[in-house]
Amino acid sequence: MIRKSRTIKVKSNKYVTPNMKRIVFESNDIQQFSSDYNGAYVKLVVPVESKGFFSKTKVRPYTIRSIDNETKELTMDFAIHKPAGPATNWALNAVVGDEISFMGPGPKKFQTNIEGWYLFAADMSAMPAAIAAIEELPKNSIGEVFFEIISKEDVQEFNKPVGVNIHWLIHKENSDNEQLKEIQKLEIPDLANVFVAGEIETVKQIKQFLLNETKVKNANNVYISSYWKIGKTEEEHKRAKMKL
Ligand SMILES: Cc1cc2nc3c(=O)[nH]c(=O)nc-3n(C[C@H](O)[C@H](O)[C@H](O)COP(=O)(O)OP(=O)(O)OC[C@H]3O[C@@H](n4cnc5c(N)ncnc54)[C@H](O)[C@@H]3O)c2cc1C
Repeated sequence: MIRKSRTIKVKSNKYVTPNMKRIVFESNDIQQFSSDYNGAYVKLVVPVESKGFFSKTKVRPYTIRSIDNETKELTMDFAIHKPAGPATNWALNAVVGDEISFMGPGPKKFQTNIEGWYLFAADMSAMPAAIAAIEELPKNSIGEVFFEIISKEDVQEFNKPVGVNIHWLIHKENSDNEQLKEIQKLEIPDLANVFVAGEIETVKQIKQFLLNETKVKNANNVYISSYWKIGKTEEEHKRAKMKL
């Protein structure tokens, strides 16, 4: 992770779907990053308002959805969730010209150049990273993708290999782990490429199944990571994540 902090400025913003806000940032500072960083993450340094002043900051990890070096643009997708924390509130209120800084990016942890079978499971916090990866896969890749979204209007279009099937699961309150149930129906090859990220308990259950009931632990392109925890801030989630 690059420690130097860089400042980026909001160039435009729009809702990709009702619960996903896309912000395009501009900055001369990103010129040295290539599109190799699509799908990598940065640590956003989010200003927190207290008594009318932005006096404190909170650090929140977010994915680089894409980088365009020619236009010097960097795009991030923010899942809009309730309750909203400082990062989500910042994204909700962001207008053209607003500035924010970030540390990073860190190196990408999931390889997208392997020809083979892929499994993706993600909720809306991890869809930016998953979609950035899917868009880079070799054209002859095959596989299954399970995206858990807040509403049916959160289905989005993106480029994918023909042999990769996308399944949209609409989140239901107090329901079982729908992603896990779908994954359990699959025949997972021993050398699967696996990307799983999202809420910590969901990810933990999928991880246990994959490691105990399949041969995935022998595969070398496996990325399983929790991105947030129900009812906990990112600071609290980070402490729980260490035990994942
Ligand atoms: C490597 C990495 C990359 C990530 N990339 C992205 C990204 O590109 N886009 C993105 O939207 N998120 C991404 N996340 C997740 C994001 O960092 C967290 O969701 C973060 O907690 C949001 O910060 P906040 O200040 O809004 O909420 P916090 O202050 O951390 O939490 C406030 C409340 O919101 C709840 N909450 C947090 N996240 C969610 C959620 N996703 N859904 C429902 N409730 C939630 C918490 O449980 C808590 O109750 C990424 C996380 C990691 C580790």
